[in-house]
Amino acid sequence: MPKQHLKGLDRDELTAFMVGLGEQPFRAKQLFRWMYGRAAQDFDEITDFAKPLRQRLQEAAALATLTLETQQISQRRDAEKYLFRLADGLHVESVLMRDGAPGRPNRHTLCISSQVGCPVDCKFCATGLMGLLRNLRPGEIVDQVLMVKRLSGSPVTNVVVMGMGEPLLNYDALLKACYLLADDEGPNLAQRRLVISTSGLVPKIERFTQEGHKFRLAISLNATTDEVRNQIMPINRKYPIAALLQAAREYTRQAKQRITFEYILLDGVNDSPADAERLKNLTRPIPCKINLIPYNPIAEPHAVAGGDSLLAFRRPSFERIEAFLAAVRTGPNTVTLRWSKGDDIDAACGQLWTKAQKPIRAEKKGIVI
Ligand code: SF4
Repeated sequence: MPKQHLKGLDRDELTAFMVGLGEQPFRAKQLFRWMYGRAAQDFDEITDFAKPLRQRLQEAAALATLTLETQQISQRRDAEKYLFRLADGLHVESVLMRDGAPGRPNRHTLCISSQVGCPVDCKFCATGLMGLLRNLRPGEIVDQVLMVKRLSGSPVTNVVVMGMGEPLLNYDALLKACYLLADDEGPNLAQRRLVISTSGLVPKIERFTQEGHKFRLAISLNATTDEVRNQIMPINRKYPIAALLQAAREYTRQAKQRITFEYILLDGVNDSPADAERLKNLTRPIPCKINLIPYNPIAEPHAVAGGDSLLAFRRPSFERIEAFLAAVRTGPNTVTLRWSKGDDIDAACGQLWTKAQKPIRAEKKGIVI
């Protein structure tokens, strides 16, 4: 009989499982605390349980959902990238970023994945090269946080769902995982410290707003005209900028929270003075934070939709980035510039995966890279 995967089960589901084993419901509470609060990855770590119960659990169930494949630490030690293998042999990535005074970071933000690959096909994104392989299960989403806590030995104070995948396409599993992460007997992450970043799925943003979750929302905007956004983010053809901004505005109104707009700066594509002016004006009526992110180049350029040419995206010059920042800062909203950490460890989403897969793809073709 296949083993039951316990990671990802909520209290009621764990209780049903333990009662099914002939145990008292309080055992489920203990298991919940060990699994999510103390990040146990093996039943033998659960010292509240006598050996016979641990053995029965070993036979009937599994705790670990991820195995560490690769861990890379940046030279400045401000970023760590993890490549995890899932039970079916597929891989996902998570990136830990540290902020604060040198040697004494006080913010440990983990960027986690929600899908293996992604169907959204943003043209500047390494994950978009893969297409969608599958959705992650709630336990696999939660386990990225638990595993990184164990492996890094540092706390995880903030989580951003901004790694591989479009989180709102895996809505139910994601929300279940978020609530497990926020549980005060689990990782106990404050809801306002968990940010879900979407490419702009308007109906899902509307659902998120209506359901009244307290997790924060970010939108990957990246262009100020539909013409450019259609090219670099094909999802825009379905949900154009005006509809997206309307949904964002409604979210801020109902949730009474700011939203974050992420804007990846791509040289010669979306970084002109006119873009800066439009970005400032488009976001003016929305309580928001604008996060400018100079592009982190990827190894394999993408074909631009609707054209024959290949467009290798580049990071703008320092002067161009500074000018863009200064122009947007004349608007009413907070604007931050976030240099991507860990350039030396392929820390942009999907980069480690694409590198890990290259030898496999090449072997299949009989080519040595
Ligand atoms: S940027 Fe995000 S939504 Fe777009 S292809 Fe990459 S992972 Fe998917």
